[in-house]
Amino acid sequence: MKVVLNPQFGSHDVQTEIHQGKMVPSFENPSRLKHILDHFQAHPGHDLIDSNDYGIDPILKVHARGYVTFLQSIWADWCAEGRVGDIVPYIWPVPGLKRMDHENLNAKVGTFAFSSDTAIMAGTWEAAYQGAQSALTAFEMVRAGERAAFALTRPPGHHAHSASYGGYCFLNNAAIVAETAREQGYDKVCILDVDYHHGNGTQDIFYDRADVLTLSIHGHPDTNFPYFLGYEDECGEADGHGFNQNFPLKDGASFEDWCGAFNQAQVRIDHFQPDLLVVPLGVDTYEGDPISNFKLKSEDFLKMGQLLKSLNLPCMFVMEGGYDVAPLGQNVYNVIEGFDRS
Ligand SMILES: [Zn+2]
Repeated sequence: MKVVLNPQFGSHDVQTEIHQGKMVPSFENPSRLKHILDHFQAHPGHDLIDSNDYGIDPILKVHARGYVTFLQSIWADWCAEGRVGDIVPYIWPVPGLKRMDHENLNAKVGTFAFSSDTAIMAGTWEAAYQGAQSALTAFEMVRAGERAAFALTRPPGHHAHSASYGGYCFLNNAAIVAETAREQGYDKVCILDVDYHHGNGTQDIFYDRADVLTLSIHGHPDTNFPYFLGYEDECGEADGHGFNQNFPLKDGASFEDWCGAFNQAQVRIDHFQPDLLVVPLGVDTYEGDPISNFKLKSEDFLKMGQLLKSLNLPCMFVMEGGYDVAPLGQNVYNVIEGFDRS
């Protein structure tokens, strides 16, 4: 499979995050991608491809211009005020406060952030921007006739909404690809999110649309991030009613449980008959993941790849989560290998 690497994956390298009340080293860091890259380079059979640059326009089809301008400029603005260290949000305009265009940088950050786990630093925009470009490059491979392609990138994207960031995500790469595909003549796109966490941003972006079916198999939001979205009763609205489905699974779910959800998702996909499948690929469903609670084993990811292949659709993978760094390369490789070899 063609694998498109984000060349700027290392330029977003924040030091800490707030996790369950403590400042801890960021779980989402460049060593994740380094491990995956090392594994692919040590196991020939998949072509590493350079990323093209399709400019800002595809990003602006999904993300609000004011939000993109914020991401592009906040670090320079921060430094111009003499501030040092990563930018971490600490106040949010929740109901009861006034939501407004604020000039103060603390207020601006809180306006666009939805969680405190996601810091911004000097290279954040470059990493996110090039990540979107790598996803678009992988899509272009599929559009040109490849059976499948994989965008190997970080930071991840599926938690990012049209105008807010959080859950380590800034630009929603899967949504940018889906929207681009629609504009380029694909009538129907399905996004099947297999990351451990619900793809809240992706769901929200397409929630009122019937042309993009959004499905997500994830840890139940009763006990897992993002807590405030990802429940079974969220089915879409207006034209999009019936075109979103969530498959939340309880903590401790096995691969057998996961396959039960996949089988239901497959029925939806078969009925929808999309022209393109986009898979936000997180392997934080792995049993050893430090911030997740499923019980998938490394060999299960081979079977996951085979199941995704069995959907028999042009397929585009985009890298999302997975935080047990040592086996991360093997687990991601197994999905891609399982897909390619079946
Ligand atoms: Zn995740």
